[in-house]
Amino acid sequence: MKVELNGNSLELIIGDITKQTTEAIVNAANGTLMGGGGVDGAIHLAAGDELVEECKRIREDDLDGNYLLTGRAVITKGYRLPADYVIHTVGPVWEGNREVSEEKLKSAYKNSLQLAMDNGIGSISFPSISTGVYRYPVNLASKVAIKAIIDFLEENQFGRVVLTLFSEKDFNTYKEALESILVKN
Ligand code: ADP
Repeated sequence: MKVELNGNSLELIIGDITKQTTEAIVNAANGTLMGGGGVDGAIHLAAGDELVEECKRIREDDLDGNYLLTGRAVITKGYRLPADYVIHTVGPVWEGNREVSEEKLKSAYKNSLQLAMDNGIGSISFPSISTGVYRYPVNLASKVAIKAIIDFLEENQFGRVVLTLFSEKDFNTYKEALESILVKN
């Protein structure tokens, strides 16, 4: 499914984000930036060890040894990935507080898009941030994700945004969210 918004495009596909050929892909990282399970593990495996080396340097040099905060984003090269860059962001762990989680998830999407744009990137693929190990319900996360992306595209000339969903079930949930938001707008 593909829609045009203010000269930009938003696409929903089913696929593996490590195979995407957009200039950047987004990693649903954890604050350590040292890799983990799920999409994070898959991205680090496909990119090779140089990715974790660059993440370590960012932790030490840019974050003074601290964790990357929830909702924030940093950028690295893509190394062996088809994408030139990886934007690492940390989504919220779902703890049942809808408002707090929503704000943080929205920030993860918006800060990733802003960082991409600041680096001259015009195409980006996102996974479904927070809906795996971090347990954010997909029916809620999909609405927040799509709203955040649409808000950003309405205000900016960015280019192409792809949401790469890992199952048909997730794809259908995101598709319903997109359709309902477009009807309301
Ligand atoms: P989080 O910790 O933010 O919840 P996860 O990696 O556990 O992150 O899950 C986020 C989403 O990414 C889940 O929907 C999961 O199915 C999906 N996912 C896992 N591997 C991939 C992949 N290679 N490409 C795209 N999505 C993936």
